Amino acid sequence: MTAPTIPDANPPLHPETELVTGGRDSVAQKGFVNPPVVRGSTVLYPTADDIRAHRGEYQYGRHGTPTTRALQQALIALEGPNCAGVGLAPSGLAAISTTLLAVLAAGDHLLVCDSVYRPTRHLCDTLLKRFGVETTYYDPLIGGDIAKLFRPNTRAVFVEAPGSQSFEMADIPAIAAAAHARDLLVIDDNTWATPLYHRSLDFGVDLSIQAGTKYLGGHSDIMFGTIAANARAWPHVTDAIRALGVCAAPDDVFLALRGLRTLAVRLAHHQAAGLAMAKWLKARPEVQRVMHPALPDDPGHAIWKRDFSGASGLFSVVLQPTPDRAVDALLDTVRLFGMGYSWGGFESLIIPFDCTSYRTATQWTPGGPTLRIHIGLENIEDLKADLERGFAAFNAARA
Ligand SMILES: *Cc1c(COP(=O)(O)O)cnc(C)c1O
Repeated sequence: MTAPTIPDANPPLHPETELVTGGRDSVAQKGFVNPPVVRGSTVLYPTADDIRAHRGEYQYGRHGTPTTRALQQALIALEGPNCAGVGLAPSGLAAISTTLLAVLAAGDHLLVCDSVYRPTRHLCDTLLKRFGVETTYYDPLIGGDIAKLFRPNTRAVFVEAPGSQSFEMADIPAIAAAAHARDLLVIDDNTWATPLYHRSLDFGVDLSIQAGTKYLGGHSDIMFGTIAANARAWPHVTDAIRALGVCAAPDDVFLALRGLRTLAVRLAHHQAAGLAMAKWLKARPEVQRVMHPALPDDPGHAIWKRDFSGASGLFSVVLQPTPDRAVDALLDTVRLFGMGYSWGGFESLIIPFDCTSYRTATQWTPGGPTLRIHIGLENIEDLKADLERGFAAFNAARA
């Protein structure tokens, strides 16, 4: 009888398994599965020679702890083979500002998609402008024609897909190909899909940002941000993080790592329930249009299908033309849908929005009131019944 052959190595792991195993070192943690929440500024060096040479696995609290190291290792595995490192920031917006300050200098020109998260726009129009960086906004559907907007001093292109509030799907590979032909850096705010459903760094992006506040944390209890970079961009990120003193709070780092372990099961539910609700809403007479790239007739569907492996639970709807009081009646009647900013937690949310006042490269004319909806982990029949009551109030107020 021949002995069974046992392969030397495991095959490459699937992302769900990476989420569970990444960054774990139970031997270093005396057997415990999870790392401790390390709170620390001072790290002691054993000898004078060590401190003179800055020799040691950890050197100072701001530069990393066993807790931040565990999360970074897990995130590097998730971001894929093109990821050279992941920087941690105290909020999603801090990850964005750190990234832009890392790659831009006075006199540079920056291209930003018109459907970008609004506070990113504020950063470009105020602080970056004051520091001598000029921003041009572009139509998110521009694709390879982005090259027409390049100037001799253009340094970077910022994309976000799908766009905040209105869910336009940018063609990231086409934009990245044009940008790389000119040696520009491509930055992507990848919060909606997370690297589980869209590994930006595989699609020509150099710097991929996540507001970890959303799905990574997953429980509406942290403010957090991540900056994943390829080998070309990573040195800029580490320099900026050091220079700016960016570091995330120990509890938030721990909770982000805890959130990461269950990201795959949570997102699978957000995706299925979000899509089911989007279809249900689309069939409602009160709804004019649903903006969700995973719907087959969405204008961005082909790009979504090509570049993304899943959808999260956030989308928007355009209602039939109605006075605000009817929309307010709906919002004030629903009970399971909370009204508040952020999303990506376990709970369903609904907010009214209006991008008309601040888009500059495109015109936003939805033709009716707009609502952004996050579908949480509640039972979907309960959510439908809640919206059913909301629509009854809406129709009563409209009559
Ligand atoms: C929420 C959000 C951010 C900002 O995250 P914070 O942690 O709230 O600073 C950035 N980008 C997108 C797309 C977001 O939705």
